Amino acid sequence: EKQRWAPILGAGTRDTAGATIFDSILDGKIPADVVYEDELVLAFRDIAPVAPTHVLLIPKRRDGLTQLQRATAEHKHVLGHMLAVAVPAIVAKDGLDSYRLVVNDGAQACQSVFHLHMHIIGGKALTWPPG
Ligand code: IMP
Repeated sequence: EKQRWAPILGAGTRDTAGATIFDSILDGKIPADVVYEDELVLAFRDIAPVAPTHVLLIPKRRDGLTQLQRATAEHKHVLGHMLAVAVPAIVAKDGLDSYRLVVNDGAQACQSVFHLHMHIIGGKALTWPPG
């Protein structure tokens, strides 16, 4: 599909951690099913969805946010933007009034990509608790 966002070269390499698969998406090197984009964030459908809606929301510039526990006061704006602007736009697009936001923060919590991302999961009856 046609690339719909401006490539951000080296988006995840402005800090000291290594590049991730999300850099290849941000660079436009691998395709993604983009559902939302603005100047700060990109959201695209997860390649291995666990529900009808399974979107990953990421900051375009990682800027040290390999994981949520690295957040500092510098990141307040982008984190607030993700929760208060991007998530509502994404769930509205899929017509969801119930959904789950997940941040796997650390390897033992099943984090596999070290570029902060929120999973937005919905479109079916979800169960609780997670494993
Ligand atoms: P984590 O396990 O919380 O770090 O989530 C990483 C997510 O990225 C997983 O749900 C993967 O399915 C997803 N993922 C990995 N590679 C790609 C890709 O190329 N496109 C879309 N999603 C991906």
